[in-house]
Amino acid sequence: MVLAGVAQAVGGDVTEAELQREVERLLDEAGLLWHHCPRAYRCRGPAGFPDLLALGLGGLLVAELKGPDGETSAAQDLWHWTAARAGLRPRLWRPADLNGRIATELDAIK
Ligand SMILES: [Mg+2]
Ligand SMILES: [Zn+2]
Repeated sequence: MVLAGVAQAVGGDVTEAELQREVERLLDEAGLLWHHCPRAYRCRGPAGFPDLLALGLGGLLVAELKGPDGETSAAQDLWHWTAARAGLRPRLWRPADLNGRIATELDAIK
């Protein structure tokens, strides 16, 4: 796929949107249930909802995706902190994590 070379590039110029698409491909490959809200302005509820919710027989994972230099907002931090305290698996993924980390963490909830 387009981003296949990204692993050795360790995320160089990959944007958050490109990362999102690649993660979606990995999710389908893993056979997981997942959801992403591409038009979050239409969503209701407190701000900062994670970019991705993935569900498999092994568990539920929520992930915030960022480009190489993107920073999480306070609202996103609150969702992640609460998810962790609730025993979920909040993740912050960046393009560099296409080096196998994301695939491994998806495998863990298959
Ligand atoms: Mg994001
Ligand atoms: Zn939504």
